Amino acid sequence: MAIEPIPVADIQVPQEFARLRDLAYNLWWSWTPEARLLFSNIDAYLWGRYRNPVELLINIEPHHWDRLLNGGGNFMSQYRKVIRDFDRYMNPDEPTWFQQQYPEYKGDKIAYFSTEFGLHESLGIYCGGLGVLSGDHAKAASDLGIPFVGVGVLYRKGYFHQAIDLDGRQHHIYNNFDFYRLPLRPMHNAAGRDLVVTVDYPDRQVYARVWQLAVGRVQLYLLDTDILENDPGDRPMTSQLYVRGREMRLCQEIMLGIGGVRALQELKIQPAVWHMNEGHSAFQVVERMRAHLAEGMTWKEASEAIRVNTLFTTHTPVPAGNEAFEASLVEKYMRVFTDKMGVDVHQMLDLGKSYPEGGSQPFNLTAVGLRFSHYSNGVSKLHGEVANHMWHHLYPGAKPTDQNIKSVTNGVHITTWLGHDIRTIIEEALGTGWIGHEDDPEFWKGILKIRDKDLWAAHQSQKDRMIRLVRHRLVEQFARHGKGPDSIREMNRMLDPNVLTIGFARRFATYKRAGLIFRDYDRLRQIITNAEHPVQIVFSGKAHPADEPGQDLIRDIVTKAIYSDLKGYIFFVEDYDIRIARHLVQGVDVWMNTPRRPREASGTSGMKAAINGALNFSVSDGWWPEAHNGKNGWIIGSEHHIDNEDEQDYRDSTSLYDILQNQIIPLYYQNRTAGCPCEWVQWMKESMATIIPGFSAARMLQDYTRDAYMPTAQR
Ligand SMILES: *Cc1c(COP(=O)(O)O)cnc(C)c1O
Repeated sequence: MAIEPIPVADIQVPQEFARLRDLAYNLWWSWTPEARLLFSNIDAYLWGRYRNPVELLINIEPHHWDRLLNGGGNFMSQYRKVIRDFDRYMNPDEPTWFQQQYPEYKGDKIAYFSTEFGLHESLGIYCGGLGVLSGDHAKAASDLGIPFVGVGVLYRKGYFHQAIDLDGRQHHIYNNFDFYRLPLRPMHNAAGRDLVVTVDYPDRQVYARVWQLAVGRVQLYLLDTDILENDPGDRPMTSQLYVRGREMRLCQEIMLGIGGVRALQELKIQPAVWHMNEGHSAFQVVERMRAHLAEGMTWKEASEAIRVNTLFTTHTPVPAGNEAFEASLVEKYMRVFTDKMGVDVHQMLDLGKSYPEGGSQPFNLTAVGLRFSHYSNGVSKLHGEVANHMWHHLYPGAKPTDQNIKSVTNGVHITTWLGHDIRTIIEEALGTGWIGHEDDPEFWKGILKIRDKDLWAAHQSQKDRMIRLVRHRLVEQFARHGKGPDSIREMNRMLDPNVLTIGFARRFATYKRAGLIFRDYDRLRQIITNAEHPVQIVFSGKAHPADEPGQDLIRDIVTKAIYSDLKGYIFFVEDYDIRIARHLVQGVDVWMNTPRRPREASGTSGMKAAINGALNFSVSDGWWPEAHNGKNGWIIGSEHHIDNEDEQDYRDSTSLYDILQNQIIPLYYQNRTAGCPCEWVQWMKESMATIIPGFSAARMLQDYTRDAYMPTAQR
């Protein structure tokens, strides 16, 4: 059966509820609990199935409307309240943080380019931490009223869904999104036609359609090459996020960078600031260079003109994350541009050299980003230092300890990640006015006033919800494997809410060392299967399709969870996404992170867990050394660097077992009065009170605005 695209305006909604369409097409609903509840009250089944209001409105049976129209005033008043809140949020006259800080600024927008945006589980155009950070960045820019526009790619097949088979192997299943069933609108040009941008490729042109995605007050523009105008070979260019083939990846990133600049031109947006979030969009400088040269500037003048209003954020010290292409491949694709510009293609290729000296080198997008930005930053203090060590040779005369690359520590969008029960408790103690105080440490000391029992009950309630989701996923997985009814029933009783529960969920990149905790299997078994004080550990995460060692790690953990004597103590939840992340960070007691220091540039999942009262148990890497104060979580291992990786793993795992056994488990199980672990709850409060204000996306956006956006825009 063919699915016919449904034009936006054709979604039928009763006149009385006409504004539901506006709500459905703005992701504001995704971080507003009352709005989610409203959609779920329309049809809980469809909501649970799609978690996407546009699908819900398309698929709803008319009798539901009758029920809501005739069923008393409850739904109607709920509807009116949500619409009122939405209109207030969107009202341009409502004072925002930005208007208050920069009342004189009438200027142009900050354009933020990112290859992934992780906004909600129903919009699978993200892979992991980088995308979720971009999503949180856009949401916080909206909350603060920052003049901001995002540019990205609309992947028809997205990133893969993960299915794990009986042997623990990861299988890759791709989406095939119908964009008309997502909260996206195709942009039209003045003639009422689809807005399409044109980019030169060797011997041909490739076209991309421009879609709009509303994130509160902020718009994202996403490019899609899967249109009839394109040659069949070019249509899949924007099909898969982090596509495996190098040439296709290059084509895609040329489209993001050059097509993205063209899209803003077509939309008559002239950015005051260009923010490249990671190197994937670095080809934007090629198009901007072309435009400046066409205006008559010299190459040097054009480079300087680009630098003065460009920012670059680097997100990883891991080589694989710093994208580089064979120079000959880049040459193949850049010639069409350099020929038109009248410059030697090697002049362009030199821009991607990691080392100023030396002959042919791979074309490194991080190097391009750093060269063309007058402000660049890492994503934690430690990462800033590491990045300067990695890249100092790009700055003439610089030492590795200089701070040519600054740092802005990441943060998370609080209303996206805070669980329902913890939020309710916070609002009882601090009032509903806490939004807008996200960055105020004094205000958050109020957390300490919350009654221990209440906080514990809220946490347990979130933990119950997390456990239900994990069980549900295990049941689904076992049923798919053809297991018998008894095995499936057994899965539905897994996980005990009264047992200390550790979460470990993230991409299965090997530097994150998901297997570290298994290094001394017998010791781990002794600790976690203790009859009185057991521990359960929930794992989740995908490995990139080309990452065999990452997939081996998954196989190893899954087979242990199913077949070893750790069965019932460790679990692997398949298909990690924003939804699983939300439940895990909201429900576990401890959030564990074991990267090989200093390769975790920031990490954000630990922040999401901390704001919900989970305690971080992490290697001193990324954001954690900035947050840890001895009363809000634990540090695994030491900061002392050891060259021998095996020795490092040995020491870190020993430290991990020692702390787990001697500190975490006693703190959790001892000193219980009326079922509530008093001492533990003090640590939870300390964690929330210090990490909510320090690591919110609001704080992050204020830092960017004060240190980078406004100094750049006001030049
Ligand atoms: C927050 C988040 C991440 C980032 O996790 P790290 O532990 O910081 O690497 C990755 N994936 C999803 C779905 C997330 O929500």
